Amino acid sequence: MRTKRDYYDVLGVGPNAEENEIKANYRKLALKYHPDRNPDDKEAEEKFKEAAEAYEVVRDPEKRNIYDNYGHEGLQGTGFSGFRGFEDIFSSFGDIFEDFFGFGTGRRSSTAARRGADLRYDLTISFMDAAFGVDTEIEIEKLENCSTCEATGCEPGTHPEDCRQCGGTGQISRSQGFFSIRTTCQHCRGEGRTIPSPCQECRGTGQVVQTKDVSAKIPAGVDTGSRLRLTGEGESGTRGGPPGDLYVFINVKPHDFFKRNNDNIICQIPISFVQAALGADIDVPTLNGEKTLHIPKGTQPGEVFRFKREGIASLRGHGKGDQIMQVLVKTPTGLTKKQVTLLKEFANLESAKLSSKIKNMFNN
Ligand SMILES: [Zn+2]
Ligand SMILES: [Zn+2]
Repeated sequence: MRTKRDYYDVLGVGPNAEENEIKANYRKLALKYHPDRNPDDKEAEEKFKEAAEAYEVVRDPEKRNIYDNYGHEGLQGTGFSGFRGFEDIFSSFGDIFEDFFGFGTGRRSSTAARRGADLRYDLTISFMDAAFGVDTEIEIEKLENCSTCEATGCEPGTHPEDCRQCGGTGQISRSQGFFSIRTTCQHCRGEGRTIPSPCQECRGTGQVVQTKDVSAKIPAGVDTGSRLRLTGEGESGTRGGPPGDLYVFINVKPHDFFKRNNDNIICQIPISFVQAALGADIDVPTLNGEKTLHIPKGTQPGEVFRFKREGIASLRGHGKGDQIMQVLVKTPTGLTKKQVTLLKEFANLESAKLSSKIKNMFNN
């Protein structure tokens, strides 16, 4: 492998250089080694690419941080490998070049295949569907290749023609100072070709908006914020480019009884103070039907019990959460006369017990 120069050296700045200085230096280099100014000059091409790669890293705080700490190897670990060629550089830096030169890159390939756009769909599902997973159909509107003209944009039986303005290159060259500038041909908008009789279905664009049902398999364990990617279900690409992806963002409706904390199910179990004092067996709903919870005598308000593995299946591989139940002790209201009498009697016994306990505490 070719050894790479230090990115800061390439850009002629110090390692603590600020954004403005870096951008200004990169601009100088990009102008100096711009391919339009150095036609068929391999060395200039290399310099141009080297500067673009350095700038791509140093302008991005995340990449810069990795580079500062781990050097070129660190960046390779992230999958960063510089640029393949001019097209790559111009498409990454299109806006910057516009800034630098005051015109478009003039190099956007007019015939390149373009990947279709990614789409987002927000899907709301029930708590139970999130817990158990669900197969569903979602209806999306998206740009698809026009079937009438097979995405050519031409009325069936007709063909595109080379643009008369630019001779089919999609670009117009003009001289400015000592370097020639290529700009996108306005007549064909850089396509290089014009369509004499546009397809009526798609008005010559080659794509039409269509409503499509897409089936989505929602796995058990998703939660609000989970995101599913349906590969290739985004918009169609143009000129043979691949389609984009469809991202389904999940929103889970709250449940009346259950709440959720990651894979655990959380709920509150109301019991009477008598049940708390004497103990009780209570039928509690779980995701998989009712289950008996044994409340031991002397249970305090707020005490927590657990059904192991009665929670939600983990999205990542194996395992299940628990059902966590917190006891709510209800104070009785609307007492009958008899209940009041009994409770008063209970209170008298209670205070007698308590006062002897306190007396003991002081005597000891
Ligand atoms: Zn069409
Ligand atoms: Zn043209």
